[in-house]
Amino acid sequence: MAQAFRSTRVIAPHGVIAGTVIEHKGRIARIAAWNDVPAGIPLHDYGDAPILPGLVDTHVHINEPGRTEWEGFWTATRAAASGGVTTLVDMPLNCIPETTTVAALEAKRAAAQGKAWVDWTAWGGVVKGNAHELKALARAGVPGFKCFMVESGVEGFQWVDESELRKALAELRGTGLPLLVHAEIPGPIEQAIAQIGPGANWRKYVFHLSSRPRNAETDAIAMLIWLADEFKTPIHIVHLSNALAATMLQRAREAGTPITVETCPHYLSFDSDEIPDGATEFKCAPPIRRADNRERLWKALEDGIIDMVASDHSPCPPEMKDREEGRFDKAWGGIASLGLALPVMWTGMCQRGIQLDRIAAWMAEKPAQLAGLRGRKGALVEGGDADLVVFNPDEEWTVTESDVHFRHKLSPYIGVRLRGRVKETWLRGERIFSNGTFSDEPHGRVE
Ligand SMILES: [Zn+2]
Repeated sequence: MAQAFRSTRVIAPHGVIAGTVIEHKGRIARIAAWNDVPAGIPLHDYGDAPILPGLVDTHVHINEPGRTEWEGFWTATRAAASGGVTTLVDMPLNCIPETTTVAALEAKRAAAQGKAWVDWTAWGGVVKGNAHELKALARAGVPGFKCFMVESGVEGFQWVDESELRKALAELRGTGLPLLVHAEIPGPIEQAIAQIGPGANWRKYVFHLSSRPRNAETDAIAMLIWLADEFKTPIHIVHLSNALAATMLQRAREAGTPITVETCPHYLSFDSDEIPDGATEFKCAPPIRRADNRERLWKALEDGIIDMVASDHSPCPPEMKDREEGRFDKAWGGIASLGLALPVMWTGMCQRGIQLDRIAAWMAEKPAQLAGLRGRKGALVEGGDADLVVFNPDEEWTVTESDVHFRHKLSPYIGVRLRGRVKETWLRGERIFSNGTFSDEPHGRVE
C-alpha cells in the first residue's frame, strides 16, 4: 500500500520544493508536485513543516556487546529515531570484542538483531597487527574501516603508526572502501602533558585543552593527506576540531587527493572558555576549542571544506566521568548526544543565518556516500528508502533528561535551549517516532 507525504518545504537534493513524496513498499516511488497526490492512497499533509531525508550518522559508539552497561542497541537506536536519524554506522571499538575480525563482526550483528529501531551497520577496525583480516571484513560487508593514530582509550583497540597505516592502506587499495582515522598523533600530546607537569588543577578545562594541542591534529592530517595521495585510497578524518587544518585539506582536495572530513555538533556549539570547572561531560578528544576556532569550523563547513557532521556519540557510565572529583585527566572522554544533532545544528545555523537545506548534505547525503549507501539512504530521491524526518524549525525547547533516550543522561546538552524539534521519523515507510513516542516494536535492518 502506497502513501503520500506532502509539504510546502520538501528538502530535495536540488533544493527546497513544494512537493509530495510518494512511498511504495518502503521506497520512494517518486517525488511528485504538491498537488499531484494519487487518488486512493493515504496522505500525510504536513503543511509548511519541512520534510528532510532521514539522517545518517556515521560516527556512533553503541558499545554492545561487551559494554552494554555503557550504551546498547535498544537505547542508542531509539535515541537516533527520536532525532530523525534513520541510519547508524557503529564504530568498531568500546564493544567487546572489538570489530577487528569477521567473527567479532558477526557477534555484533547477532547482538543487534531485534533491538535496532533504525537501520544499522558497522565499520571494521584497523589495529596493530590485523591487516590480514581487512579483506575478509570487506567481503563480510563492512562499508569501511576505522583506526586511531593515538591511544584509543581501550586496550583491545591498539593505535597504528605510519608503517601499520601503510599495511592497512595497501590492503584497502582498490576496494573503494574508506579508512576513517582519529587524527591526532602522540608526540605533541606527550610534550604538552610534560609541560603542564604535576600540580595542575585538572578540574579546569583549560588543562585538558592544552594537553591536546592543535599540532597533534595538523601533523596527523598532513601525514594522512600524503598517504591518501600515495595509495589513492580514500581517507576520512573523523571529528575534526582544529579549524586550522581546513586550509591544507582544501588544497589537498583541489589537488585531487581522496580525503574527506567530518566535524561534530559539540565543536560547533561550545566554547572552551565557558566550560565550567569539573564539567567532565564536555571532555572529548580532540578537545572543544575556543570560540574563534568554532567560528572557523562553521566557515569551513559553509564553504564545503568540511564535508559532513557526525555526532561521535560516545557515552559511558556516569561513574567513569568522575563527576565528583571533576578531573579532566581522569574522566573518560566522550560526549553523549545521540538524537540532538539536528536541533543543535539548526540552533547554530539560525544564529549564523544558514539555510535549513544545508543540513541534508551535511547530515544525510554526504555521510550516506561515505558509508557506501548512496542511492539508498541520505536523500529524497526516487528509488531510495522512504526514510523521512518531519521537523518543526520554530519550536524552542530546553533539553531535559526525559527528552534524551540514550542510556545515561549525563550530557553537556542537558539544560541547553535549542531551536527546532523532530516531530516524526519514518523508516522505510513506517512511522517509528511521533511527537515523543515510539512505534510498538523495532524494525531496523541489521547488516
Ligand atoms: Zn568516536
